Amino acid sequence: MEQVYLLLRHREIPNIDQYDVYVAHGGYEGLKAALEKSPDEVIDIVKQSGLRGRGGAGFPTGVKWGFVPKDVFPKYLVCNFAEGEPGTFKDREIVENNPHQLIEGIIIAAYAIQASTAYIYHRGEFTYAAAQLQKAIADAEAHGWLGENIQGTGFSLKIHLHREAGAYICGEETAQLNSIEGYLGQPRLKPPFPAVEGLWRKPTVINNVETLSNLPGILRHGADWYRQWGTEKNPGTRIYGVSGHVVRPGLYELPTNVTARELIFEHAGGIWKGRGFKAFIPGGVSAPILTEEHLDTPLTFDDLAAVGSMGGSGGVIVIDDHTDMAWLTYKMVAFYRHESCGKCSPCREGTYWQKMLLTRIVSGRGTRTDIELLKQVSDQMTNKCFCPLGESSRGVVQAVYKYFGDEMYVHAKDIPVLQTEQRS
Ligand code: SF4
Repeated sequence: MEQVYLLLRHREIPNIDQYDVYVAHGGYEGLKAALEKSPDEVIDIVKQSGLRGRGGAGFPTGVKWGFVPKDVFPKYLVCNFAEGEPGTFKDREIVENNPHQLIEGIIIAAYAIQASTAYIYHRGEFTYAAAQLQKAIADAEAHGWLGENIQGTGFSLKIHLHREAGAYICGEETAQLNSIEGYLGQPRLKPPFPAVEGLWRKPTVINNVETLSNLPGILRHGADWYRQWGTEKNPGTRIYGVSGHVVRPGLYELPTNVTARELIFEHAGGIWKGRGFKAFIPGGVSAPILTEEHLDTPLTFDDLAAVGSMGGSGGVIVIDDHTDMAWLTYKMVAFYRHESCGKCSPCREGTYWQKMLLTRIVSGRGTRTDIELLKQVSDQMTNKCFCPLGESSRGVVQAVYKYFGDEMYVHAKDIPVLQTEQRS
């Protein structure tokens, strides 16, 4: 499959981050088309397009908007630009190089749900992205696309930038809402879902940067145009961020049904240093690891779920055959341990034990008992954590056991060397 530049148009159109260049290439035409329709008609078009959220869960965007009650005001729109998932680096490129595409998408979404205030919750370290957004917001306001009575339609919108302090959990939508309200960034119990009770207990839609950036094209060209790529249930393109042991790491925008084999071996140039392929993680570290038998799996939300993983953030991490899977597991679990917010004991205590046991195992001080206890701790966390962070940590360990369980025992000091070699 060839790359399709819908969201990465800046790679073909120099300086599209400038307002005049953006407008010269159809910028704000999607918003203009939206404002000529009723909010419900805009929601219907997005439903027909089949656009699914690109932040991780893959929930249909138009359906999510449809849950917002019509008669409760004010409503809020939040753009999730926290982008903290290891292996994920797509939103930053979109925002830095084509900020108007996102601003236009935010205004379309806010109009559809009739929100008069929007927040961009963005990762604090991305200072250049923040500057680009501020400039784009100012340009949009100066040309009547933002502010009071937009283009004489009676619809008004103010966009605020909210810079976060670097907590991974604040990418979770309810923790993000707490953070914007000034509270500790910890998840809230659901239901009620944010569409009904979100920011300050008012209806709130939270969409990711990549999701919102699809809206200008869909409104400008229509749902059928968008459906020419991908599959019936997973239409459009995705930006796959390939990292790890490949020749050409980077971002690739491709139809959603590209296979892992094509992405890794054709677009990303295959495994680096002439080494062999061992495994890949298809959607950021939260997505359970997959192996060679899954290389021909299309990278859609549904196909990846069918093989026990998930599309997640689209960050594809490739692992070569020189990689020690116990060490890899340690790195991922250490991340979750560091980012656990501490609200619930299965995650707070479970990630502590996972990290402690893995530290012993990879340093050569672990025993068979430690390795088996690690598996037990992870199994006991299943379906007990308050939010997906803890579930992801146990999922990482369980998936490695499923495909590479024997490798763990290579590190056990109470297994004779001869037996250890046989196991490897
Ligand atoms: S699972 Fe972890 S991150 Fe989520 S609420 Fe519990 S302690 Fe916090």
